[in-house]
Amino acid sequence: MTVLAKPLRIASVALSLALPLPAFAQQAADTIAPEAATTTAPKAVVHAQRHMVAAANPAAAQAGLDVLRAGGSAADAVVAVQTVLGLVEPQSSGLGGGAFLVWYDAASGKVTTFDGRETAPKAATGDLFLGTDGKPLKFFEAVVGGRSVGTPGAIRLLEAVHGRYGKLDWTNLLDPAIDLATNGFTVSPRLAALVADDADKLGTQASTRDYFFPTGKPIAAGQTLRNPAYAETLAAIAKDGPDAFYKGPVADSIVEAVRSHPINPGLLSGEDLADYKAIERPAVCAPYRGLQVCGMGPPSSGALAIGQILGMVEPFDLATLGPEDPESWRILGDATRLAFADRERYVADADFVSIPKGLLNADYLSIRSTLLRRPTALPQEGVTAGDPPWDKAELRRDGASFDMPSTTHFVIVDDEGNVASMTSSIENGFGSRLMTGGFLLNNQLTDFSFAPEEDGRAVANRVEPGKRPRSSMSPTIILRDGKPIFALGSPGGSSIIPYVAKTIVALVDWKMDISQAIALPHLTNRFGTYDVEAGTSAVSLVKDLEALGYKTAVKEQNSGLQGIAITANGIDGGADPRREGIAVGD
Ligand code: GLU
Repeated sequence: MTVLAKPLRIASVALSLALPLPAFAQQAADTIAPEAATTTAPKAVVHAQRHMVAAANPAAAQAGLDVLRAGGSAADAVVAVQTVLGLVEPQSSGLGGGAFLVWYDAASGKVTTFDGRETAPKAATGDLFLGTDGKPLKFFEAVVGGRSVGTPGAIRLLEAVHGRYGKLDWTNLLDPAIDLATNGFTVSPRLAALVADDADKLGTQASTRDYFFPTGKPIAAGQTLRNPAYAETLAAIAKDGPDAFYKGPVADSIVEAVRSHPINPGLLSGEDLADYKAIERPAVCAPYRGLQVCGMGPPSSGALAIGQILGMVEPFDLATLGPEDPESWRILGDATRLAFADRERYVADADFVSIPKGLLNADYLSIRSTLLRRPTALPQEGVTAGDPPWDKAELRRDGASFDMPSTTHFVIVDDEGNVASMTSSIENGFGSRLMTGGFLLNNQLTDFSFAPEEDGRAVANRVEPGKRPRSSMSPTIILRDGKPIFALGSPGGSSIIPYVAKTIVALVDWKMDISQAIALPHLTNRFGTYDVEAGTSAVSLVKDLEALGYKTAVKEQNSGLQGIAITANGIDGGADPRREGIAVGD
């Protein structure tokens, strides 16, 4: 392929996305969740010179931009963006949840990460999600109520990153969210649709009913909604700092909401909140085609899985194959399945279980990569966990855990060139459906394996007191020669891993711009079924994938990627057309 042919081919992919949906795909789009019935035509790339914010909601992005304009650092803007997101996109993230942040520090050239993941209550044990019959609960039986609520970590994370890299006064950074909560914000179409869609769970919880169904009907798109309780909580945190969240009346009301749920009470205590700590951890970085792909290590499986996928596909010439060749997707899809096999077997909170140190070992990945040298799909029995170098081998059983879509990702670049890439979550849409102090409480504990052991062997991701549930969140910063060139991430449960890996391949191998790479239709294969994004040009690959031996499923893909590219010409920002995100900058 000539160098010139490449952009033309890419343009044709992007253009075909904007065409009317074929009838079969339209039908699929009509039957899927309302938030997913959007287009995958790329949003325009936003170009800036000095600083940028790309976030899932325009009001939150604007709040971050205002902080950067006032001379704030990316860390300052993180505080403003997160607290506004907790108001305008309450279903996804907020004070009642947790987050992971990857940070590039321009002054030292170092990448570090902050872990604000929820913890299991000290009183929790391996049987937390087993019913009275000893069998794992059904997912939503576990989610709704207090049982699934872990100690929220978001505010301690904000405190940690602001303490290290902030320039502006903490108090003022909460003003945008306090103003919007007091004077009202405009309910977005996506929030309104999700509230209506969740009426059976959200509308039946006393703590959420009055806020989301104020007249008995779900809040409507375009209406102005006030949240005085949220303003009050933030005012306390502004005045007295994060301790006002983790101790005293706010903490008491969280514990009360969790423990007094009439059907499904939980175990969270005042001590769990008072003792919670965000943890700074070294970034996990993996090489890919001369770049360094850096992200979040355990308790997230994100950077390890993405590093493994990229390591396994690197020997293949994906650039020449291109995004329209099913062979590219065979290689990517089976690499993802192999990475997921290791993830299920080995990855959990490393403060509690030993994780093989060789999951990103080059020799190990090269052996795993040879499994992809075949003409057709790997048979399911061939997709097993490998044997990575490990100094403390243990017999392990594969786990199974659920990941459901909500969550949010944002990226920020400041005037000094610092970069923040943060994925933040209350897990399921609207979390545990419990609300207190104007914010929703997470259900992050359902990211643990419900079964603590299988056939007498321990599952790595079992519930243990104080442990952090394994995540798929993959906030990422990619460096060339030590300088950041891309930052990205997404919501989407365990599909986050293939969403982000695909976007990296689209940027690096297929030379797409940030918006095209984000919008490129998703084809994800985690557990054997090749999931092909409904309503997109990818559906035309279904026949070829079936011929390679895959079972396919055409379904919505609920990503919410936000990303930036830093080039010699400035900063390019892109937001996922599947949700309401936007990039803004100067
Ligand atoms: N709870 C999930 C995780 O931490 C994220 C949920 C989502 O993206 O919807 O991996």
